[in-house]
Amino acid sequence: MTIYAATVVDTPGDPFAGDPAAALAEDGALLVRDGVIRARGSLAALRAAHPDEAVTRLDGGLLVPGFVDTHVHFPQIRAIGGMGLPLLDWLERYALPEESKLADQAYARAVAAEFLDGLVASGTTSALVFGSHFAPAMDELFAAAGQRGLNITSGLVLSDRELRPDLLSSPETALADSADLIRRWHDRGRLRYAVTPRFSLSTSDDMLDVCAQLLGQGIWFTSHLNENLAEIATVTRLFPGSQDYLDTYCRHGLVTARSVFAHNVHPGDAELTLLAEHGASVAHCPTSNSALGSGLFPLRRHVEHGVHVALGSDVGAGAGLFLPKEALQAYFIQQLLGPAGLGLTPVHLLYLATRAGARALGLEDRVGDLAVGKDFDAVWLCPAEGSTLAVNLRHARDTADALARIFALATPADVAGVWVRGLRVGAAACPDPR
Ligand SMILES: [Zn+2]
Repeated sequence: MTIYAATVVDTPGDPFAGDPAAALAEDGALLVRDGVIRARGSLAALRAAHPDEAVTRLDGGLLVPGFVDTHVHFPQIRAIGGMGLPLLDWLERYALPEESKLADQAYARAVAAEFLDGLVASGTTSALVFGSHFAPAMDELFAAAGQRGLNITSGLVLSDRELRPDLLSSPETALADSADLIRRWHDRGRLRYAVTPRFSLSTSDDMLDVCAQLLGQGIWFTSHLNENLAEIATVTRLFPGSQDYLDTYCRHGLVTARSVFAHNVHPGDAELTLLAEHGASVAHCPTSNSALGSGLFPLRRHVEHGVHVALGSDVGAGAGLFLPKEALQAYFIQQLLGPAGLGLTPVHLLYLATRAGARALGLEDRVGDLAVGKDFDAVWLCPAEGSTLAVNLRHARDTADALARIFALATPADVAGVWVRGLRVGAAACPDPR
């Protein structure tokens, strides 16, 4: 057992449901045994109750829950920074040529390691990962994620039209390969499977039927939705009988409480109503939406319709794996929307980067905050002495103000430690113990 003495900050409440300040919690220490948080309170109280336990001091900065990324493409880790193009042109120029390279299993192995190490270095301990079009590449991702103990939900990406030919498969092959991956990886440790059609633009009704056949037994579902106006127009042309983009999934039974749709920048009211009715979640990816010029995410309409929203980095269209950067960009976008925007507090930002993601992935009883009984998945954000963030933290008025300075200024260089089920996996930036 270990007692961690730190400024422990999390959001056990939901800041979108009431007073944001009431959603925030702070304590001075956690007692961790076998990777699980067993007690929480002041350092004095925990030491008095457990006088024989070692104390690890994490002085300075904040200890927050491990970040939860609900939309990120592992095959695109080497393709970040493609500027100047809208979605469909960006896919053709930057993303899909790189994704094709994962047909080479050794290449996929190297990419999977770079991707997962990047997640850890950014403090992300749980993620819904958009996979590869190639089954052997998925074996590499799952194996490497299992070795690192990360909470990874992912699956083979399915497409049978519109994309470059080497990324296509038949519905029959997709069904057989996916079923085999599910059998070998789903529910193995912290790994889970997500059925993953790239988007209905690149999947026929026959392929979406295959997706429906694969659901069940705790299997998740993820895809893209309403990202870009040209994409939506193409989907409308390809599915003349559908009411809207969401209906292309819904009529196959793919909109459920275990479904996460990325983007939804341009939803209709009927789509928002349907998402809420089925308890499906939306992964908001603000740096990607900005980089591709996809649009300004209508968060207020989602919240008013009762649609659950979490954050995704959407690497490689997004500008990196560090979730606080996405949270900051989400804040910027709501500011830019003016009266149509939903003003976000620092408490909202922490919630979006942690517990909202855990809830979207059905993991809220395991991770997302640092309550007693949860896995000890945590990030210690502690800036180097003399940095602008360190100066600002010293002058923060209270915890929420400290969070605001973190979201404004923190980078992966401020990730001083990362724990996955109690095991320290991140590199130390701050000396430890100090
Ligand atoms: Zn995406």
